[in-house]
Amino acid sequence: MRLAALLLALPVALAAQQPAADSPALAKALAQLKTDNAWTLQKQVALCEVPAPPFKEQARGIAFRNEMVALGYADAHVDEVGNVVAELPGASNGPTVLIAGHLDTVFPEGTNVAVTRDGTRYKGAGIGDDCRGLAVVLATARAVKQSGVRFDGRVLFVANVGEEGPGNLRGTRHLLGTTYKGKVDYFISVDGTGNDITSRAVGSNRYRVHFQGPGGHSYGAFGMPNPIHAMGRAIASISEIKVPRSPKTTFNVGIVSGGTSVNSIAMEGVMDVDMRSESAEELAKVDVLVRKAIDDAVTAELARWPASTKGLKVRIDTIGIRPTGAQSDSARIVRAALAAAHELGLKPGIGASSTDSNYPISLGIPAITIDGGGDGSGAHSHDEWYDDGAAGYLGPQWALKIVAALAGTAR
Ligand SMILES: [Zn+2]
Repeated sequence: MRLAALLLALPVALAAQQPAADSPALAKALAQLKTDNAWTLQKQVALCEVPAPPFKEQARGIAFRNEMVALGYADAHVDEVGNVVAELPGASNGPTVLIAGHLDTVFPEGTNVAVTRDGTRYKGAGIGDDCRGLAVVLATARAVKQSGVRFDGRVLFVANVGEEGPGNLRGTRHLLGTTYKGKVDYFISVDGTGNDITSRAVGSNRYRVHFQGPGGHSYGAFGMPNPIHAMGRAIASISEIKVPRSPKTTFNVGIVSGGTSVNSIAMEGVMDVDMRSESAEELAKVDVLVRKAIDDAVTAELARWPASTKGLKVRIDTIGIRPTGAQSDSARIVRAALAAAHELGLKPGIGASSTDSNYPISLGIPAITIDGGGDGSGAHSHDEWYDDGAAGYLGPQWALKIVAALAGTAR
């Protein structure tokens, strides 16, 4: 509903606000992204063949840094947490725009990262998510440099660590919370394939919950509280939690483990819980209900065995917290992305997701995550593929046009 309304309104908005013509240097850079498309693809493959497991993005980071230095970004460097950052100073005091792709993959060390090609289709772990984003950032930085584009504001070209689950956005947190705290006006993440925009942040709270007790023989020690039974009670309660359909709010117990044998009262039951919402308020509400379900489950399990002197303990470890925040689809950054897409003949959908943009959005910094163009599928699986199709170059062109619109072009 929201999307349909917005797309209908778009031609009117554009008619009222004609985009400024591209400067000659910008036009040259845009043309280069098309003519040198093979270069972009080659780098996408090359970067992808450097492994980047969670928390082990160093090798791919160095490869990206070396590419940036070779392009003339002499200051390109790897920061304290592993992000690669290169600055293009602004010609005047325009806004600072940060554009990033993420280095990390979900694949563990030892995964085969060779990329194979079948016609125009490339297959490889991470080839779309997010080697495509890295290639788009790199190609954009190259076209800007070689065409002599000057922006009014500073542009930060970034390859960041820690986007995927376990990374908990640590790369983006470091950039926007420490290095460039208060100094970034617009944040663009290029992530994956296609031509859509993520403008709203789905926040998530993820916990690993340990239920623990002394344990004992299932027959001989019978009559004491059982951690796995307590966990079962908690799961049953969690499964009954009522959440709103809009703003979409969800919960899931995704992994359970524990116990050592069928004839032992377990010493431990462990469950991983994930909760998500587009609304910080609803996320906080479901969080309270999940914690209450856990507390009540322990109370009920202890009450079941009043004669027992044995207790139960619960430990909740945080696996990940992705903040959410409100950002309107009429925000300037979203309108700039839509206008640029329209000029290129693209018709992006707008949606909500959990990406590197969550953190800036939670801070009130305008942020979007855009797809990197082309077509692809199978992210986070070994069947992941990317196909540039006839017009994959539109991805980097779109990214460049958004950067130019936000940073302003001096010439
Ligand atoms: Zn990604």
